[in-house]
Amino acid sequence: MNKYIFVSGGVCSSLGKGVAASSLGALLEGRGLNVRMVKCDPYINVDAGTMSPYQHGEVYVTDDGAETDLDLGNYARFTNAPLSKANSITTGQVYDAVIRKEREGRYLGRCVQVIPHITDEIKSRITAAAKEDPDTDVVIVEIGGTVGDIESIPFLEAARQMIHECGRTNALSVHLTLIPEVAGGELKTKPTQHSVKAMQEMGIQPDILICRAPAMLDEATRRKLALFCNMESDAVFTSYNIDTTIYEIPLVFFNQKLDQVILKKMGVESRHAKLDAWHSMMKHFKAQEGVVKIGIVGKYMELHDAYKSVYEALFHAGLANGVRVELCKIDSTPLEDYSKAAGILGKGGQEVDGILVPGGFGQRGINGMVNAARWARENKVPYFGICLGMQIMVIDWGRYVLGLDDADSSEFNQDTKNPVVSLLEDQEDVVNYGGTMRLGKWESLVEKGTLIFAAYGESRISERHRHRYEFSNAYRKDMSGTGLKLTAFTPDGALVECVEWPDHPWGLGVQFHPEFKSKPTAAHPLFRDFIAAVKKKAR
Ligand code: GLN
Repeated sequence: MNKYIFVSGGVCSSLGKGVAASSLGALLEGRGLNVRMVKCDPYINVDAGTMSPYQHGEVYVTDDGAETDLDLGNYARFTNAPLSKANSITTGQVYDAVIRKEREGRYLGRCVQVIPHITDEIKSRITAAAKEDPDTDVVIVEIGGTVGDIESIPFLEAARQMIHECGRTNALSVHLTLIPEVAGGELKTKPTQHSVKAMQEMGIQPDILICRAPAMLDEATRRKLALFCNMESDAVFTSYNIDTTIYEIPLVFFNQKLDQVILKKMGVESRHAKLDAWHSMMKHFKAQEGVVKIGIVGKYMELHDAYKSVYEALFHAGLANGVRVELCKIDSTPLEDYSKAAGILGKGGQEVDGILVPGGFGQRGINGMVNAARWARENKVPYFGICLGMQIMVIDWGRYVLGLDDADSSEFNQDTKNPVVSLLEDQEDVVNYGGTMRLGKWESLVEKGTLIFAAYGESRISERHRHRYEFSNAYRKDMSGTGLKLTAFTPDGALVECVEWPDHPWGLGVQFHPEFKSKPTAAHPLFRDFIAAVKKKAR
């Protein structure tokens, strides 16, 4: 029988529930268990695909093309659990499925209700995620929102039912709360007690409490919490503030024996913990020397979460190269005047050692990004373009090497005579915004003797996509004839997947999103090589 761990949150949001759930996943994998991760999101959007990165942060994409919540990115960075559409459950999906069944008459005339129909749909989706792999041992289900929110009630009720049906050794509740500090430095447990009470009112007695606190809670506080929250005395853990990296959290929990206690509660015999990769990652972290500064010239600069996976992947690449990566977020609007580019990016300005242009949609800020690429190309500053960032390289080449002043993407200028980036013909009448993109895993063939081949060390690669526009094949000849290297293609040769600058230390753009596959314990090869080139240049 599969085991389930439901991770809920209380007191307030943004306590790092995703990181806690992922760290738990990492620890259980370290104990040799086969872990699956599921996120339940209470919003009514069917998926995160239609949400603005400004509001909700990055859209994380899976191999099978699901556009999901950014928490799945945490799962991917901390665990080896495979992720697909089955691992992201939203209220929107659940209602959509139930309403469809109702329209098809599949409820046989019964009155369709939140309980049992919505809760049954949630339960069947959670068990379906567990069944994706017959060898699954544990499914960690993170329930979005905060206990007490109206929206999360059906998810908590589904969890309650599953705990009841599976039995307490097969299904646990882990509750994450905040222990605030008031004036005078005193730590307060009352909000946590109320939060656990709210869980109990939902019919769930948490088995494990993880408290976010400024520092490790002392024995007396932990005992007090256990007593008033009706829990065993070994069940209270602290996720204290750390000044290293979130990737130390699995070890922070390990040192408090969180995994041992969970194994005991689940009746799984204890086995040796294998956490070498995490220990060695921390060793790399501590051994980092020097700093390189990466200018990120993108669209959604105000909200850190909007490019979460990109920033994390840069951090991983820093670990792999023994150097700290400083992120310098640059608004592209002032770069629209090219004469100012050097002053903003170079000496006297930000003095960046490398430039990264990440993904994005819509016209705003595009010309500034094109100028950032042009400046990096002309000044031989390492440049990494991701998705939109590759299209920007192509527009720069069109405008300033081919001399086509109006070279553009038809996304930004439908009337241009030179759409060097454009829609494929069969896409042109698409009107629906959800699910109309090249999404998910695609294979590419990589040319030998190129930067991209040097990074991957193989010619057949697979990466994830999320975009509508493509390098326009009408310009292949002119672009490559003037030196732009086209270095990876879809296996049928139809689409360009990677471009590289000639006579340049490292200028590369890819149409896919490598950031989704980078891990702290295994940096993505393209990010790794980009930072290696930056480090060499910065010396
Ligand atoms: N807006 C571009 C497109 O749709 C790039 C998308 C992206 O960067 N993810 O093709």
